[in-house]
Amino acid sequence: MAIAHAPRPAAALVPDLPSYDMQAFRRAAALVGAAVLALGICFVARLGGPHTVRTLSNVALFCAAFAASIGCVLRSRRATGRVRLSWVLLGAATASWGVGQLLWFWFESVMGDAVPFPSLADVGYLGMPIFTVAGLLVLGTAAQTAANRARSVLDGAMIATSLLLISWTLVLGPTIAAGADNLFALTISLSYPVSDVVMVTIVMYVLAGRRQRHADNVPLILVGCGLATFALSDSGFTYLTLTDAYSSGSPTDLGWFTGFLLILLASLRPERSVAHRSAVAKQVRNFGLLMPYIAVVAAVVTTVLDKLQGRSSGSSFISWDRSVLILLMVGRQVLTMLENRTLTRGLEARVAERTQELKTSEQRFRALVLHSSDVVSVVDTDSVVQYQSESIERVFGHHAHRLVGAPLTSIFQPEAATALLEALKSASLRSRGVAVIELPLVRADGRICQAEISVTNLLEDPAVGALVLNMRDVTERRELENQLIHEAFHDTLTGLANRALFTDRVGQALQRRAGSEFRIAVLFLDLDGFKETNDSQGHAAGDAMLVEVARRLLGAVRPEDTVARLGGDEFAVLIGCLHDDEENNARAVAERIRATLSAPFAIDNQPAFIRASIGIAYADSGAEDAGQLLRNADLAMYRAKAAGEGGYVLYNPTMHAALVDRLQVAADLRVGLERGHFELYYQPEVDMNGGDILGFEALIRWHHPERGLVPPDQFIPLAETTGLIRPLGQWVLEEACRQAALWSQAMGRQIGMAVNVSSHQLGQSDFLAVVANALSSTGIVPGQLCLEMTESVLMNDTEDILTLLNQLKDLGVRLAIDDFGTGYSSLSYLHRFPFDTLKIDRSFVERVTSPSGEATLARTIVQLGHGLGVTTIAEGLENRAQYEALRRIGCNIGQGFLISKPVPADQATELLVAELSDQRATGHPAPRSAAKPGKPRTKSKVPVA
Ligand code: C2E
Ligand code: CA
Ligand code: CA
Repeated sequence: MAIAHAPRPAAALVPDLPSYDMQAFRRAAALVGAAVLALGICFVARLGGPHTVRTLSNVALFCAAFAASIGCVLRSRRATGRVRLSWVLLGAATASWGVGQLLWFWFESVMGDAVPFPSLADVGYLGMPIFTVAGLLVLGTAAQTAANRARSVLDGAMIATSLLLISWTLVLGPTIAAGADNLFALTISLSYPVSDVVMVTIVMYVLAGRRQRHADNVPLILVGCGLATFALSDSGFTYLTLTDAYSSGSPTDLGWFTGFLLILLASLRPERSVAHRSAVAKQVRNFGLLMPYIAVVAAVVTTVLDKLQGRSSGSSFISWDRSVLILLMVGRQVLTMLENRTLTRGLEARVAERTQELKTSEQRFRALVLHSSDVVSVVDTDSVVQYQSESIERVFGHHAHRLVGAPLTSIFQPEAATALLEALKSASLRSRGVAVIELPLVRADGRICQAEISVTNLLEDPAVGALVLNMRDVTERRELENQLIHEAFHDTLTGLANRALFTDRVGQALQRRAGSEFRIAVLFLDLDGFKETNDSQGHAAGDAMLVEVARRLLGAVRPEDTVARLGGDEFAVLIGCLHDDEENNARAVAERIRATLSAPFAIDNQPAFIRASIGIAYADSGAEDAGQLLRNADLAMYRAKAAGEGGYVLYNPTMHAALVDRLQVAADLRVGLERGHFELYYQPEVDMNGGDILGFEALIRWHHPERGLVPPDQFIPLAETTGLIRPLGQWVLEEACRQAALWSQAMGRQIGMAVNVSSHQLGQSDFLAVVANALSSTGIVPGQLCLEMTESVLMNDTEDILTLLNQLKDLGVRLAIDDFGTGYSSLSYLHRFPFDTLKIDRSFVERVTSPSGEATLARTIVQLGHGLGVTTIAEGLENRAQYEALRRIGCNIGQGFLISKPVPADQATELLVAELSDQRATGHPAPRSAAKPGKPRTKSKVPVA
């Protein structure tokens, strides 16, 4: 019995493996088949007599109905939503029928064969179609389009009409023809087959509606089949009832039994996977599509067979029904036609739309290629052009159509053409790779321009099958870049390399030199007196001079050498030469530079002269990098500058030590000034005719804590370059004046004081005030003070200096030219400047007693002094012969070791005191004998003041 295989508890159903479920389902199906067969045999063979068969039928039907009911209810618990409700209603339907069957059984067993018709049992039976229809309608269909819904309705109507036709032909027609006892009984009888038609119709309708969805339709089909067998039994039952031939256990009962077992099977059917469902759904869909037509064919076959058998029950209803069927089919056909039409139209519109889209995209692409600043060429690996964009005419002037079929290399120079072919070759080896190269391209007008070419390998692209080149003119970009790079590395005024580029070149040369026979040298040039030219003649003149210097420097070196302007009036030259290259070594180049600069410069149509101090450093003299090599050359240049002859000096490592030394001394100078490490020594100046001390020259000394007594030659130049000369000079001036005032007071006469001033001090804006202050604060007579300066002072800003000198003269101060005769200036200034004294340089004094008898120069100077009305002083008198010679020549005043070395103030005081006591001893102040200064006066001889 089916009940023996009732569904297992719902909870156990879900996690079971589908294969296991399917096996169980198949076994259940086999059992159902066996049960139906066994019952069928019993019914046909009427085993055990009519009573037994009747009871067997009643019990079997009741059990089958309830088994189906329980199956549906249990199944409902595995489902959700509408499906669940649907199963519950189906369970109710079968239960309702089971209840009807129970009543029938009761009637039959109580009343024997004569069960009244209709009876209470019919209420239970008729509950079944009501619940079933409700259950099926609840399943419903998903939201659909209007056309789909119309088609579903038409399909449903076609099925219903066909089934009605079959039902009429087979059951209803004969039933009505057979007639009934009363109308109520007839109606109840007919309601069975009619409700069956309705149920089967709805099942088919729902199936047809579900054909689009991936739903498992097997349970529904099983339910449909069950209802169909049910319909068969109902039809038989109706017919037999109306003819009063029915009793339980007749073969018609088998249909109900089968129907319920099929519904039970439907409820036992396990859930299928989505993939399986979709495969099944496909078959069901095809079946669903055909379903209405199958129904129609079945109806037509039934009526035709009926006709052939010569029966023609209710022919008018059949013809009406047929007409409706034909109308429905026509409607269905029209609908399909309309649907196809809109489908075709939609398709056409889509195709048109796509075509337009393609066209637009092609046009867009064409426009892009045409108006792009890029030139697009499609070439094969040998550069033969397959396609050439028109833009090439606009960009490079070539005609696109002339290039097609020709090699693209034809618009490149041979070297670039080879490079292009190589680039194409290497690009063709890398699929879809992009290579970018830049090559000079010959424009149509013959001009060369710089083209940036990117090569894309589309050889394997079936739509292209070639190399695609994108070319663009980057000439302007490159020019701008070059210009910017040039500007970054060149001096704008002269166009020479700047410091950055020069340093870079030196670095490169040093790298290349490594291990070679080559010598690298840097010449560092600094123009002498350029600042003066710039200040006096204006910046334009200065610039013109720098440009001309640059031009001449370039002319003095070979093209492979580098000339740079490092800034201001500093230039540098980088040369490379072999060890034995006499012509191009650094000395030779320096000589050539000297020679080329010696020619006069025409600035503002005026001849002008310039010299350069040159420092030379070879890379093999211990320079490790460019910076160091440049510094070495710079150091050597300073030496050359100090020599002051516009010459050149070769760097040697001691210069470096000297530089360090200088820096140390500069630092010490500052400290010395703060801590009072300076002292003035005094060297007497005597009247050459009487020997009296007329005054002293103040000479500075530095008591260095470590170096001891440092002579001025070793720190005055440094004080000048560091600017410390100003405070130092001021201190000297004040100290010397103070000492002069002291001595004058002590001696009761004016003691002269000569103070050396450097050109830097004269450039000091408050120099006049400093001098005036020194005079007023010490109270000495201005004429006691003599300021000594060298001729070099006169070379700078002559007008300003003249003004200052006149102002000093106005104060009453005396002025002397120191080291007269060693400057290179013309003597014309002597007339213009208000000097009182000429100090004849020691070099002339030395020569007066030389064997060659060169006294002439000294004599000329003395005579010049007389002519100008100025006093002459002979410096550096070391022996009596010199003293006598100069005295004879007519020189007024003498100074030198012969008379006294420069001595500290107290010793100078002793000299004065000694002189005074001498005068007292002889009784007259002057003249002193010329023999007296034979030996320097010493402390031991002269008592302390
Ligand atoms: P200068 O003005 O020509 O000073 C004369 C120099 O000759 C002194 O050297 C002096 O010691 C030296 N001298 C004097 N008589 C003889 C002699 O018979 N034989 C030899 N061989 N030398 C003699 P000093 O003191 O070393 O000074 C050197 C230079 O330093 C000075 O040359 C002067 O230009 C500069 N100087 C000295 N003191 C000062 C100063 O306070 N301010 C400035 N601006 N320069 C100073
Ligand atoms: Ca002097
Ligand atoms: Ca001097």
